[in-house]
Amino acid sequence: MPPHSAPATALRTLLAALWACGAATALANDPAASHAPASAPPVASAPAAQPAHAAPPASSHPQAVVDRIKAAIESRQTQGKVHVVVGESAGPAPHAATAQSAAAHAQPHKTRPHKTPAASTHAPGHAPAAGGHEAHWSYAGPQGPEHWAEMKPEFGACATGQRQSPVHIDEAGTLQGPAEALIFNHPPSNGSVINNGHTIQVDLDGGNTLTVRGSTYKLLQFHFHHPAEEKMNYKGFAMVAHLVHKNDQGQLAVVAVLIDPGAVNDLVRKVWTHMPLDAGDRVPLPAGLIDMKELLPQDQRYYQFMGSLTTPPCTEGVLWMVLKQPMTVSRDQLKLFARLFPMNARPVQALNGRVVREAQ
Ligand SMILES: [Zn+2]
Repeated sequence: MPPHSAPATALRTLLAALWACGAATALANDPAASHAPASAPPVASAPAAQPAHAAPPASSHPQAVVDRIKAAIESRQTQGKVHVVVGESAGPAPHAATAQSAAAHAQPHKTRPHKTPAASTHAPGHAPAAGGHEAHWSYAGPQGPEHWAEMKPEFGACATGQRQSPVHIDEAGTLQGPAEALIFNHPPSNGSVINNGHTIQVDLDGGNTLTVRGSTYKLLQFHFHHPAEEKMNYKGFAMVAHLVHKNDQGQLAVVAVLIDPGAVNDLVRKVWTHMPLDAGDRVPLPAGLIDMKELLPQDQRYYQFMGSLTTPPCTEGVLWMVLKQPMTVSRDQLKLFARLFPMNARPVQALNGRVVREAQ
């Protein structure tokens, strides 16, 4: 095959494999997705096939990772084993009891609209469908955000909730004034990376905490959206990282770190390097690899408001803090995530009179 067609073929293969299980409905309906290959850079050589259970990629170069994903999917297609699992319950995890079981018992700050609200903005999105295959939510089309509430009774808050996330923060409408600093404790940490079909997520093993409003929250996981879900003063951002915390009372606090294109981010490089090859797969990270300080800006002033999970079941009662200073990732880092997740952002939701505090 001509060298210049390799990236396009790789992406088409990836999308075709996801489509086979219905995971790429959103991508297929997104014109940007079908145009993406045209802007892909040429590569020097054709991708080399690798076994489905190849070791985690040593290179984080976007093309190298796409090639590995392509090879893995092709391998599984020939074995008839292609499957896409969505939601945080996907796949066994050695430390599942730490983050995910705890997540299942999380309770929102005030309202408790569901029996088992999730502690993550990426809770399982499964719903029974004809033919034994499970339908699931996505970001466009018949399973897109405007239809989430129709998919399962438990997703009702996605349509009827009055304190939903994400939101557009217009500084002119915020409550400006002094507020407490966010106190982070971020030792080097262990964790694992999962591709849950909706995003790339890092589940962390204990140790990282956020103290705010008289409570200490443990950092369970962080994950990414492209583009950013939040908007600030009529500006959108290329990506956002959501840091999902929970305190001993089961209350959730999410810190949003907005991301612009720019300098390489070291933590993102580590995560991308170990990115799972298949949706549903989990890759453990080398001990002590994660240093959350690498993902946070120096200036930690923030906007604060009450909101919800930004994915089904859209549970409310989540304390949100959006940091005002964006971080950066390189164009290559951005391109890699964008190829896997061309659009995984819920539209902004109405404030409905909510107070947004600007912490100065
Ligand atoms: Zn999120």
